Amino acid sequence: MLRTLESLGSLAGKRVIVRCDLNVPLSHGQITDDGRVRASVATLNALIHQGARIVIVSHLGRPEGAPDSQYSLAPVAQRLSELLGKPVTFARDTVGSAAEEAVNGLADGDVAVLENLRFNPGETSKDAAEREAFAAKLAAFGDVYVSDGFGVVHRKQASVYELAQALPSAAGLLIASELDVLERLTESPEKPYTVVLGGSKVSDKLGVIGHLLPRVNSLLIGGGMLFTFLAAQGHKVGSSLLESDQLDTVRGYLAKAEELGVAIVLPSDVVVASKFGADAEHVVRAADAIEDTDWGASGLVLVIGTATTENFASIIGSSRTVFWNGPMGVFELAPFAEGTRVIAQALTEVDGLGVVGGGDSAAAVRALGFSDDQFGHISTGGGASLEFLEGKHLPGLEVLGWQQ
Ligand code: ADP
Ligand code: MG
Repeated sequence: MLRTLESLGSLAGKRVIVRCDLNVPLSHGQITDDGRVRASVATLNALIHQGARIVIVSHLGRPEGAPDSQYSLAPVAQRLSELLGKPVTFARDTVGSAAEEAVNGLADGDVAVLENLRFNPGETSKDAAEREAFAAKLAAFGDVYVSDGFGVVHRKQASVYELAQALPSAAGLLIASELDVLERLTESPEKPYTVVLGGSKVSDKLGVIGHLLPRVNSLLIGGGMLFTFLAAQGHKVGSSLLESDQLDTVRGYLAKAEELGVAIVLPSDVVVASKFGADAEHVVRAADAIEDTDWGASGLVLVIGTATTENFASIIGSSRTVFWNGPMGVFELAPFAEGTRVIAQALTEVDGLGVVGGGDSAAAVRALGFSDDQFGHISTGGGASLEFLEGKHLPGLEVLGWQQ
C-alpha cells in the first residue's frame, strides 16, 4: 500500500522536505509551460494548511553535477510564489550554507525552494554510497519526507529513493492521483486500447513497446520514433532522426506484433522539410519516398502527413482507452504543428479514457491551445508513466510502500 500524507500524522511545525518535479521547459529564462508547477500546488497547499515548514527540492534539466545558471530553479520559485499566493524563499545552493539558512528561517506554513538537485553529483550518481551521502545531507533539513515528483519515480536517485529511506516518508497528492489513473490503464482497460508513441527520446521509448504489445489492440507510431521503423522495413529516411543500432529490436517488434495480432500502425505519408527550421520548405511524400524530393538525402521529416493524421485520429476515435506519449512532430515549429494538434483534438473526443503523458507532450497540448480539463488526464511523467504501463518496478514508488 502506498503510504499517503495522513500516514505521517500531524505535520504542524514539522520540517517537511517535498520532492517535486519542477522540471519545466524554459526559454531565455522564461517558463514556457508551468504545468508541472501547477501540478505541485495541491500537496504544497495541504502542507501549508497544516502549518508545516516546507522545504522543496527538485531538478531542472540535465546539468552535469555542477552549478549551471541556465538550469537554476530561481524562475520556478518565483512562479510558485505567484501560484501559492505567498512569498517563497529561494536558496542559491542545495545543501550548502544558503540552503541551511533558508531552512532555519522557516516559520510554520512557510515555503523554501532549494537550488537544483542536479548541481550536485550525488543526486544521480551510479554509486549508491554517493547517493546515500547526498541524501543524508538533504535529510538533515527535514523531519519527514514527502515524495511528489511523479516524473522521477522511475529513477533510483538520491532525492527520490535514498532520501525516502532516510526519513519517515509518504507520497504526496500528485503521485496518488497519477497512480489512480494509471491503474485504470493497467487493470482491465476498456478495449479497444490504443497507445500512440512519438517524440524524440527514441531509444528510451523503444524498450516499452515489447511490454506494451500484449496489452494493446493498436500501437500508432509517429514523431521521431518513426524512422527506426521505416528504416527497419528497408526505407530510406533522409536526415531524419534515426537510431540505427535499434533496427533489429524494431524488426523483432514488428514480428511479435504480427504473431499477437496487434496492429503497429506506421504513417503512410509524412512531411519532408528542406532543413530544421520554421522557414524550411516542405512537401508531403509517401513514407517510403522520403528522399524523393529536391533535397534528396538531406531532406528530413518533421511531422506525420495529412492522410496519416486522419487515419490516426480515426483509430483514436474508435478506441475506448488511449494513452499518448510523444508529439507527432516538431510542434514547436508552427508549420509542423498540425499533426500533433489533430491527434490532441482526437484525444479530447475519446469516448472513454484519454490520457496524455510526458513533459513535452503536455507542453504541446497546452501550447496548441487545449486546456487540461479537455483530457481524461494529463500525466506529469512521460518515462515514469510508460514504465508503469510496462509493469516495471518503479523504485521511487516501491520505497513508499507501493507494490504493483
Ligand atoms: P515527452 O517529453 O512528451 O516524453 P519527448 O521528450 O520524447 O516527449 O519528445 C519531444 C520532442 O520530440 C519535441 O521537442 C519534438 O519537437 C520532438 N519531435 C517530434 N517529432 C520529431 C521529428 N520528426 N524529428 C525531430 N524531433 C521530433
Ligand atoms: Mg521530453
